[in-house]
Amino acid sequence: MKRAIRNSKDLLAALELDPETLQTSADGEAQFPVFAPLEFLSRMQAGDPNDPLLLQVLPRVQESEIDPDFVPDPVGDAAVERAPGLLHKYTGRVLLIVSGVCGVHCRYCFRRHYPYGSAPKSIERWLPALDTIQNDPSIHEVILSGGDPLTVVDEHLSDLVDRLSTIAHIKRLRIHTRLPVVIPQRVDEKLCGWLSESRLSKWIVLHINHAQEIDSHVVHAIRKLQQTGATVLNQAVLLRGINDSAEQLGALCERLVDCGVLPYYLHQLDRVSGAKHFEADREKGLAILTQLAKSLPGYAVPKYVQEIAGQPSKSPITPD
Ligand SMILES: *Cc1c(COP(=O)(O)O)cnc(C)c1O
Ligand code: SF4
Repeated sequence: MKRAIRNSKDLLAALELDPETLQTSADGEAQFPVFAPLEFLSRMQAGDPNDPLLLQVLPRVQESEIDPDFVPDPVGDAAVERAPGLLHKYTGRVLLIVSGVCGVHCRYCFRRHYPYGSAPKSIERWLPALDTIQNDPSIHEVILSGGDPLTVVDEHLSDLVDRLSTIAHIKRLRIHTRLPVVIPQRVDEKLCGWLSESRLSKWIVLHINHAQEIDSHVVHAIRKLQQTGATVLNQAVLLRGINDSAEQLGALCERLVDCGVLPYYLHQLDRVSGAKHFEADREKGLAILTQLAKSLPGYAVPKYVQEIAGQPSKSPITPD
């Protein structure tokens, strides 16, 4: 992560692109800095301003466009915080914001305005969240999220998971992470060691939007995660100009299932301020899903969903 590219000037230079023709948003960048690891960069095509990986990390000039429908907290996370860093939105499962740090900054991220500075950093500061979980037997699953939970060192993560494992009503551990994709070397012996040893049923949800993100290092990382006994799923976001065609999404889904990863969700973009240019129409999304259902095995077709604040689950998107 120390070697990662941290501004658009360096990003464009590394890809031999002309900053004169590819304008960027200075205020977008000031609000949410560029962060692109070299491992992710190595899968981009130099000289291609429309590279689907580059477009996910470059603050394009459209970020500065103001639209009242695109807001700082589109999914209502602030309202469901039960203890510092603990979000309880849905029955049976809670989400822990384990870290505010990510292995990559995705420009369309709905958490780009989240007040991460306030999330607990040491195990002591997790005690209120752990207490809340302990005292609520309706909770069976804990989701480590963020930010990216795998930016936390293994000693702290395994300590947190050990503590969760002592709570009898916790059956499942879920990890929402993009690090095995952007820096696959993160999946090392240490991580796989404590994961393998956990008594909990393990679910790892990756975030990959385009088949080009999956190189041989990512395949290797996925295999290591699967060898810990974890079931690996993927969630993607429908992104205009990046994966909003049956061809692109179909290729992604096939690549995923060939790695033994189930396409779980395809998210309609959350309307976060600065991300309007990434939005694809629901009609287009539905048409793509119809196309995928005709050409892929059923298990390779993700659920097309949207997050609506106040709803008891992610809401399926269906024709009107
Ligand atoms: C999306 C989300 C979950 C997980 O929902 P699933 O449908 O079980 O994948 C849990 N908690 C919060 C706060 C979420 O946003
Ligand atoms: S890795 Fe996930 S949480 Fe981090 S910026 Fe990307 S989408 Fe957002």
